[in-house]
Amino acid sequence: MKAIIFLECKDGSPVSASLELFSAAAAVGAETVPVTVAAPEGYLYEDAVTEAVSAKAKAEDAALVLLAATPVGKLVAPRIAARLGAGSVNDALSVGAEGGKFTAVRPVFGGTVRETVDFCTDKAVISVRGGSYDAPADVPAAEELTADLSGGVYAKVAEAIEEAGAAVNLEDAKVIVTGGRGMGNEENFKLCEELAEVLGGVVGATRPAIENGWVGRTHQVGQSGKIVAPDLYIACGVSGATQHVSGMMGSKYIIAINKDENAPIFSIADVGIVGDAKQILPLMIEEFKKRK
Ligand SMILES: Cc1cc2nc3c(=O)[nH]c(=O)nc-3n(C[C@H](O)[C@H](O)[C@H](O)COP(=O)(O)OP(=O)(O)OC[C@H]3O[C@@H](n4cnc5c(N)ncnc54)[C@H](O)[C@@H]3O)c2cc1C
Repeated sequence: MKAIIFLECKDGSPVSASLELFSAAAAVGAETVPVTVAAPEGYLYEDAVTEAVSAKAKAEDAALVLLAATPVGKLVAPRIAARLGAGSVNDALSVGAEGGKFTAVRPVFGGTVRETVDFCTDKAVISVRGGSYDAPADVPAAEELTADLSGGVYAKVAEAIEEAGAAVNLEDAKVIVTGGRGMGNEENFKLCEELAEVLGGVVGATRPAIENGWVGRTHQVGQSGKIVAPDLYIACGVSGATQHVSGMMGSKYIIAINKDENAPIFSIADVGIVGDAKQILPLMIEEFKKRK
């Protein structure tokens, strides 16, 4: 049984969540067919991926197509499924196979519940959330596909404008320091940015921190922001609301700083520090600088 592994690329390299797909395919004993996609000049990457991956899956008679659950992956997965007559699940936490059919576990109700989906189709197209599997040490070379977009109706890109702050790559960051409303103001929020810089990481934010204008929208972590799974996640002045936690619960090690010892964030933290983040962060910054 074959699985197409779509390796989504940013700046020429596969995003880390797509490398984890090899482990998801191994979990169901699939033979992997890794591919990347080059979009023809002036066309949308999403359209190119949809057509190229669908064509490859048909040519290989693949039973499974795996994509990373990025905005691109989540958009194209159901489109590919429609072309293949396959079932589709987005944002899976794991992939399985039982009695010749695929299964997938996905979060629902903002991550408070996990449900297992049993596919009734023979074929499945599944996007898998980053951090759900470990990427293997060695990954095989991928075939670069070029989409044939000659026969359909597709959007053409008239002009591409880069969003301010779009360079923030929270999804691939190994360390994220997130500031919440508890940081109090923009000046204090800079402490999160400073710690992130010292640790070689990226700064994240809750929705209130963004709505207060302390940092750009591209830094938002959560249900309506980015889904992240770094090795280390430091949450400062973050209460741990479901809509935030659902975006970072795949983090490998979580440190939470909150002055309220009953804050829900402590229930998912590996280490909890009860105290004022404005006082604790300067100490951490100083200590990490010394150790470096
Ligand atoms: C449909 C929908 C989608 C949403 N999507 C998102 C999303 O994607 N991401 C997101 O983050 N939110 C999202 N939200 C909002 C979410 O529900 C919460 O309101 C938000 O996550 C809370 O942010 P917070 O933890 O920064 O603020 P609060 O909940 O106000 O928590 C602030 C915390 O800081 C602590 N604190 C205060 N002062 C200090 C101090 N000096 N030192 C240490 N701790 C201190 C407090 O004890 C408190 O626990 C969404 C909401 C809805 C309805």
